[in-house]
Amino acid sequence: MSRTVAFIGLGHMGGPMAANLAKAGHRILGHDLVPALVEAAAGQGVEPAGSAAEAVAGADLVISMLPAGRHVLGLYDDILGAARPGTLFVDCSTIDVADARTAHEQAVAAGMRALDAPVSGGVVGAEAATLTFMAGGGEAEFAEAEPLLAAMGKRAVHCGGAGAGQAAKICNNMILGVSMIAVSEAFVLAESLGLSHQALYDVASTASGQCWALTVNCPVPGPVPGSPANRDYRPGFAAPLMAKDLGLAANALREGGVRAELGLRAAELYAAYAEGDGADEDFSGIVRTIRKQSGEKP
Ligand code: NAD
Repeated sequence: MSRTVAFIGLGHMGGPMAANLAKAGHRILGHDLVPALVEAAAGQGVEPAGSAAEAVAGADLVISMLPAGRHVLGLYDDILGAARPGTLFVDCSTIDVADARTAHEQAVAAGMRALDAPVSGGVVGAEAATLTFMAGGGEAEFAEAEPLLAAMGKRAVHCGGAGAGQAAKICNNMILGVSMIAVSEAFVLAESLGLSHQALYDVASTASGQCWALTVNCPVPGPVPGSPANRDYRPGFAAPLMAKDLGLAANALREGGVRAELGLRAAELYAAYAEGDGADEDFSGIVRTIRKQSGEKP
């Protein structure tokens, strides 16, 4: 069934996601604060709307893909009053769990329905429509959004009630950040012990050290030819995005009183790396910082 969707935020992720929805036959009314992005989306079948409120007024569903929680809450403040009663608001941005729950409450208080549905898969996944969505909200809301999520991704998991999608995203990325640091430290230790990268890989990739950070995104060049280490750490998954997600995890850890020393430390290490050498690098490049700080040669 073809739906009319207001798509707000046509950046690196939102632009190709909106284009894939248009390609699937939905009517997409697009808006971004940057006019050039609205123009680019228009070339991909997205109808330009003069404002977010204008896009929302004629829509069955509203999808947002914005930088952070304050943008989502600000947008909801601006547009909830412009939507038809009962409109489903699907926020795909990665934001604080607490902000996601506030956004749900605001939508419901305004007579709307809501779902949080952050993604993993990056810009490549957004372009190829192979994203994974992690959704939080009611069964009926998830069922209504599912055909649209299917046009933008390959998998959608209903994780629970309001905020559960954001919770799943930050828990997963906390595992990833901590495991990338652990794998990188192991490679630098191997270097200092005279053990080759390939030998460590051959053992750990089929033993109990096996994980995605090692076998798919291996932080040293050689063992996994497709990993960003083989192209001078061009992202991939950029370090500033990992730093952002670990910052959200750290907020949730503090708010929940969870004693997660590695998660909090990973957030600190990635924040420092993303502000320095890692600003334009894949997050696996943190191995170079660990090596540099250890005084080891590659
Ligand atoms: P981006 O900065 O490229 O796009 C965000 C867009 O939102 C910008 O174009 C901005 O102008 C627009 N915007 C902000 N406030 C607005 C408003 N009130 N009305 C209309 N437009 C507004 O960011 P991105 O890389 O597309 O990421 C979007 C979200 O997806 C973030 O939350 C990010 O953490 C998450 N994410 C990104 C990636 C990735 O690889 N880039 C991967 C997974 C998740």
